[in-house]
Amino acid sequence: MRVSNKILFFVLDGASDRPVGGMTPLQDAVTPNLDKLADTGISGIMDTIAPGIRPGSDTAHLSLLGYDPYKYYTGRGPFEAAGVGIDVEAGDVAFRCNFATLKDGNIVDRRAGRIRETSELARSICEDVDVGMNFIFKESTGHRAAMVIRGEGLSADVTSNDPKKEDKPMKEFHAGSPEAEKTAKILNDFVAQSIKVLDGHPVNVERINAGKPPANVILLRGAGLVPNIRPFEERYGLKPAVVAAAGLVIGIGKMCGMEHIGYDGGTGGVDSDVKGKVKTAINALEDHDYVLVNIKGADEAGHDGAYEKKRDFIGKVDEAFANVLDLTDTMVVVTADHSTPVSIKDHSADPVPIMINGDGVRVDGVGAYNEIDAANGGLHRIKGMDLMHILLDLINRTEKFGA
Ligand code: ZN
Ligand code: ZN
Repeated sequence: MRVSNKILFFVLDGASDRPVGGMTPLQDAVTPNLDKLADTGISGIMDTIAPGIRPGSDTAHLSLLGYDPYKYYTGRGPFEAAGVGIDVEAGDVAFRCNFATLKDGNIVDRRAGRIRETSELARSICEDVDVGMNFIFKESTGHRAAMVIRGEGLSADVTSNDPKKEDKPMKEFHAGSPEAEKTAKILNDFVAQSIKVLDGHPVNVERINAGKPPANVILLRGAGLVPNIRPFEERYGLKPAVVAAAGLVIGIGKMCGMEHIGYDGGTGGVDSDVKGKVKTAINALEDHDYVLVNIKGADEAGHDGAYEKKRDFIGKVDEAFANVLDLTDTMVVVTADHSTPVSIKDHSADPVPIMINGDGVRVDGVGAYNEIDAANGGLHRIKGMDLMHILLDLINRTEKFGA
């Protein structure tokens, strides 16, 4: 008898949807491989957080990994910071940042003309800004960056300097509680000093000469306290890896102690190399017990409200699944972190389909992978936080409760 002892976990980000003209993109897409997995596996639907709760990708992924988002999620900053490669530590206060353009006190471009060449600017900020407290500032893709502040007496209970709209005055940081006053002061000081460093920086001089908006200010938001997270391997006894392009998902994986396995396949959007990503994940199973794969394109199409684009991307994902059918000692899981209905162009709380395929699962009557058929499956309706327990039990790694 074969026994599945590894877990290959696919998150088709935002693939779940509502019917448009009677069909969801998943129902409409050509998915022979996913359907075959459903046919020989067990299906169900899942509330990744709880019924009626609209998940973000970050909170949903935490839940799918068995980390209660209500306990571990204090803001997006920590996961973004970990995702760009900052070695965050419990107690750090972290932010996601934008390079932006400031003119006469107003933020005139929140993305500084979608600047790309930010590494020199980031380095100058790290070298020349002194706020009397350790901080790490690191550029990410495009106009994005992340920052952590490290030290005693910090708090994430602060407002943002981002006016959220263009041609509005930049805001000051304010403390939401007395304990956060020191942090707000550090942040205001950081922004004032970084404006001086960025103003007249050779990179910006060159941009102005080329008629482009200078990246002369940093906007910081998504403040969060880095939580104390018990590593995945210690908790579950499985050696984990994450294959993803989205910084947020990489950051969540890293904070849970997963090895990030990069691949050269684009940004994870609809144009990315899904086959390469799936192959990378399968290879990672050789020396890992649990591999999380995030495939982003369907979410992007959902936010765009692009039905055909979403349906066709799902078809492209299915083609990449041809190799997954041949795996023998692996529990294959396919789900989504949330629904991103094209009709609302944002995440919704509609439950997502989940399918588990591997030795020992009670194969049910579901023969297609989509939201509607999955609801008739043997898993019925589960919560995201239950999933790790169910998977651990299917690979016979759970401890008995009682005698
Ligand atoms: Zn998502
Ligand atoms: Zn989304």
